Formats: sequence, C-alpha cells, structure tokens
Amino acid sequence: MKVLVINCGSSSLKYQLIDSETEQALAVGLCERIGIDGRLKHTPAGGEKVVLEDALPNHEVAIQNVLAALTNPTYGVIKDLSEIGAVGHRVVHGGEKFTSSVVIDDAVIEGIKECSDLAPLHNPANLIGIDACMKLMPGVPEVAVFDTAFHQTMPREAYLYGLPYEYYDKYKVRRYGFHGTSHSYVSKRVMDVAGLDPNNSKIIVCHLGNGASISAVKNGKSVDTSMGLTPLEGLIMGTRSGDIDPAIMEYIAGKEHLSLEGVMNVLNKKSGVLGMSGVSSDFRDLSAAAEAGNEHAKDAIEGFAYHVAKYVGSYAAAMNGVDAIAFTAGVGENDGVVRKAVCSHFGFLGATIDDEKNAVRGEEIIISTADSKVKLLVIPTNEELAICRETVALC
Ligand code: ADP
Repeated sequence: MKVLVINCGSSSLKYQLIDSETEQALAVGLCERIGIDGRLKHTPAGGEKVVLEDALPNHEVAIQNVLAALTNPTYGVIKDLSEIGAVGHRVVHGGEKFTSSVVIDDAVIEGIKECSDLAPLHNPANLIGIDACMKLMPGVPEVAVFDTAFHQTMPREAYLYGLPYEYYDKYKVRRYGFHGTSHSYVSKRVMDVAGLDPNNSKIIVCHLGNGASISAVKNGKSVDTSMGLTPLEGLIMGTRSGDIDPAIMEYIAGKEHLSLEGVMNVLNKKSGVLGMSGVSSDFRDLSAAAEAGNEHAKDAIEGFAYHVAKYVGSYAAAMNGVDAIAFTAGVGENDGVVRKAVCSHFGFLGATIDDEKNAVRGEEIIISTADSKVKLLVIPTNEELAICRETVALC
C-alpha cells in the first residue's frame, strides 16, 4: 500500500509518500510559508528536488499542490490519486484520550479538538490538515498518530506534578511527554540491534534534535520522559530552556518588564543553547564557535551534555538499572563530540564508549566497547516510517 504521511505545522507541512511493502519513501517534500506566500519543495526518490513557488494561502491549497506534485507527469511518482491507499497524520497532543493511533472519524476529530487547549499552536494545524485531506481524498482512510500516545503508559508517580491535585482533576495538568513516535520506534530498534528481550529490557532513548527529550522504556513501555505538559520541560534544547526554577519567570518579568507571554517567548524561543551561547541553536555552529575559542559556545555544549547525562542517571534509578542507552535525532545521530561528552559521565554504570565506532555518523550502530556493561547505540529515527506502519496496521 502507498501511504501519504502528513506532518502539518502552523505554517508548514512536511510529507512523504511511502510504499509500505518496501518501506521506501517514493517522494518527500515540504510546504513552507503557508498563509504568507508559499513554497513547495518536492523530491522524488532518486530524482532532483523541484521548488515550486506557487501561492499557498492555506493548508487546503498546500495539500492540493502536494497531490498535484505527486501526480505530476514529470516529477510525480504516481499516475493517479487512487494509488494512495491511506493517509497517516502526525498529531501532536492526544491528551489522556488517545493511548494509541486511531482511524479518524467524527468522534476522533472532536477528541483532537478537545485536546487543543493543551497544544494551541499544533492541534488546530493538524486538524486543518486532516480536514483538507478528507475533502481532497474522500473515502481514503486516515489515521492519527499521536506524539503523546507512547507515553500514556507512564505510572502516576511519573506523570503527576507536585501541584494541587485539583489542577490535574480540573484541567488535566500532568506530564504527557512528546516525540513518542520516535521514542517508540528507536526503543524497538534498540531491542533488535542490541538483541534485548522485549519483555525484560531497560532502555533509555535520548532524542536530541532541535527539540530534545529523553525517555525511560521498560519492557517496551514508556515509564518516564523529560518533556511535560508542553515540550518546554526537560533538557536544554536548541531554543527552549528546559528545566529551570519556576520562580525565575517572575524575577525576569520584573527585571525586564515583560508580561507572562513575553517571558514564555524567551523560554521557548530565545533560551536553550542559542540563548546560552548567543551564537546559534545549531550544534554545527556551536562546535565551530567553541573550536574558535568562544567560551559561551563551550558552556552551551557542556551544559547540554551534562543535563542529558543527569537525566540518564535519574532514569537508570527510575528503572533500577539500564541495559542500553540510544542516541537519535539531528544531534544524537550526527554529533560524536556531544555523545562522547554525555557518555563521559557513565563510568558508574560501567558503560564505555568505543571512540572509533563513535566516529561513525547517521547509521544504526553499537558504539560501546565489547566489554561495556551497558550498550550504547546510535539509532537514526524515522518518524515517517513509524507513522506509515501504524497507519497500515489500522487500515
Ligand atoms: P527537529 O526535528 O527538532 O527540528 P532534528 O532532529 O532535525 O530537529 O535536529 C536538528 C538539529 O540537529 C540541528 O539544529 C543541529 O543542531 C543538529 N545537527 C544536524 N546535523 C548535524 C551535524 N552534522 N552535526 C552536529 N549537529 C547536527
């Protein structure tokens, strides 16, 4: 079956058409600047990237143009839309309502709307994408795959905050966690690659991209994760602060004459390694600056790695042990220096990194030494393929 995987943001839309039998992407693409002017970048497998500058006033037009690109006689990859057997949508927040992927119907759409309060920037955009596909491909089954669903197995002690219980009762304030599709995919690959028993395994997945989160996966189930009610909690990220003393918010608001919204903007967009370094949110730029002697860039990289290591330590405690620690996403897959810095804290676990193997980039590999007590791995994530598999399983 050919599955169209859609990841709809507020002003962007990423897509892949995947052949579920070969698990290969037939085409990948991105619509940018939706509602501003519009640009569609489309790449057929093995072909040249095509950039189309047609106006994209809304998501429906964007999806219309994606479907036109997929069926274009020159750079398209299918003759007819009837070749698309199903659509899989990434949906950011499923709250407590959605504990797994579901075939979309009216009740599911209502459910996603109900969770919009928890992700006001993301869920409405996901719903627009779902609605547009339903209009343009009537009768084609659509599946919602939630970022939060994998973490719904967390026990209460992991998801309840130290807040008045009524906030959970009334408003569902609790830890949800994100990047669930990636944590699920990577932890399963770790079991295969490291030869672990799915029913007797303790795995820590470090998803280190521009957004970054860690999860503790025991016997295939997420038992804790670093992002919370929103993706702001946890690790130091590209531009997000991660964990801070909450009292800093009032203190900075007073000093800088900022509203709550202004402080939130700083914490989401101007903090993290970007804010610490004053250089960039991109680790390639940070490494170059650090090598050139920029102390703030060095602080940012070391601080980032230190926080990752602290979380790994706490999750080893949460699971009372750890068999494997995996690195994934942009930084985790590519940056051997950061991986080495993180792993330098793992002597107490008996985990040893193999420097030669750690030099490898972007492929599935065990990077620990043969005598390491804990396996260290690099596992490139593939959220689109995971969404495709979930979609096929339900259609
Ligand atoms: P997201 O999906 O959260 O946008 P990604 O997982 O794509 O993020 O990761 C993007 C980040 O990965 C970049 O901001 C950069 O910091 C890092 N990155 C990408 N390639 C490299 C590389 N070759 N070396 C070091 N870091 C890299």
